[in-house]
Amino acid sequence: MLWVRSTPRRGDRVLLSKYCVIVPDYPYKGQHVVFHTGTQALVLLDSQALSYLKNEIRLNTLPPKKQIEYQKMLPELRQMGILVKDQQEDAAYLESFFDQLKRQRIRKTWPVTILTTDACNFQCVYCFEENARRNIAMNLEVQTDTLAFIKNRMTSDKYERLYVTFYGGEPLLKPAVITHLASNLKNWSKKAGVVFEFMLQTNGYLLSPNLVRSLIPLGLDQVRVSLDGPRDVHDARRPLRSGGRTFDTIIKNILASMDSIKICVSVCYEKDHLQDIDALLSFLKQKNMLHQLGRFIFSPIHPRLGTPEDKNRIQHFDCMINYQDANLVQSISVIRDILKTYDVDDSRKGLAISACPLMREKGGLTIDPCGYIYKCNSMIGFSKFSVGQVKDAQFNPRADYFVSLDPWRSCPNDCPYLPLCGGGCRMSAYFKYKDFKELDCHRDYLDQMIPVFIKEEYTRLTTEKQYSS
Ligand code: SF4
Ligand code: SF4
Repeated sequence: MLWVRSTPRRGDRVLLSKYCVIVPDYPYKGQHVVFHTGTQALVLLDSQALSYLKNEIRLNTLPPKKQIEYQKMLPELRQMGILVKDQQEDAAYLESFFDQLKRQRIRKTWPVTILTTDACNFQCVYCFEENARRNIAMNLEVQTDTLAFIKNRMTSDKYERLYVTFYGGEPLLKPAVITHLASNLKNWSKKAGVVFEFMLQTNGYLLSPNLVRSLIPLGLDQVRVSLDGPRDVHDARRPLRSGGRTFDTIIKNILASMDSIKICVSVCYEKDHLQDIDALLSFLKQKNMLHQLGRFIFSPIHPRLGTPEDKNRIQHFDCMINYQDANLVQSISVIRDILKTYDVDDSRKGLAISACPLMREKGGLTIDPCGYIYKCNSMIGFSKFSVGQVKDAQFNPRADYFVSLDPWRSCPNDCPYLPLCGGGCRMSAYFKYKDFKELDCHRDYLDQMIPVFIKEEYTRLTTEKQYSS
């Protein structure tokens, strides 16, 4: 057995949890990676140990040395949730897992995304906001309400840190909104005894060293700039609204600011054009920028969105909707190999899949320029799906409705992916069935992709272990 990563449990009965996924004969024949989709504990077992845990062989039929070895590992496996006392324990685990996910504040940091405007100086070919754009900037009244809303929630939910992402449209079209909100929150955070930091998610065209220098004292922690490939690829995908090229200006702006602030790079890629990533990294290396930049964040390009109610509209970079395409899963390995050749760290940690955040009472929120609050970025622009407005003290009844959905209760209770998937994307279910409660089951995809992710995770952990020892 290699290592432990889990929540404590006690006992020594042998029953493999239903929520374990086994990747057989990996990394070598006769060795098997066992992963618990709830605790995310991951262990390596030999064939005999696995057969014993599956109750296929009895302990007293094994050599005495093995009997001692396997008995010793039982408490640890119970702690990891990989072994349970009985099926009721598994069922109780699932119930409390979703209850915690739903009701508890998972982190001490509250992530809030604020759209200073939905207007943009770019016309990216895949933009997911294009059809919902109204060219509205956040006015002073909404800014005042946003500040009050954030401060009240921070206090009532006892968060210790506020992390705001300024987003758009292009947030730097409205730098005064950023400055006003950030300076107010900075002053308030000092008095309230909490930490306030923020980042800018920008296309980089209007990024200037002066602006960066003025925002750092207000809590600017990093800038995330989008670059989609080398010059021609980037310019074809991310042109100015007026039609001009953008790559050279962005590179010039990054170079002018990278000594003052950490600049991370978001790369939207097409799964059949991964060579664009290679070419971009090669360019950044030639310019001596590559190892001065912060992390790289890769996201697959999704179909351009249609009119409201068009199901192609679904897009969210951080949740499981990204992982419903097995080709995308394979592209992750290729990207990792490209990064290795440039000696760049892969910033992706863990399986990066979790049940739909829409159903969490406490968690990240997005506030649009009109003050509507969303729990899912796919819903931005559909005010009928917002969970409230910043001018109101309370969320609207839709927030409670989303939290109450519990689609996982309709799933077969032996699906090993239940803690990860929880019934699938709610927005997708709504578009397919006009009902947020329906299942959006992609078990065939999960059957393909989860073993790939487990192998990736195993490799990452073993590599980290090697470097740290
Ligand atoms: S939606 Fe499908 S894959 Fe997801 S937990 Fe339910 S049965 Fe399993
Ligand atoms: S409904 Fe949930 S899973 Fe689907 S895109 Fe929104 S947050 Fe992600």
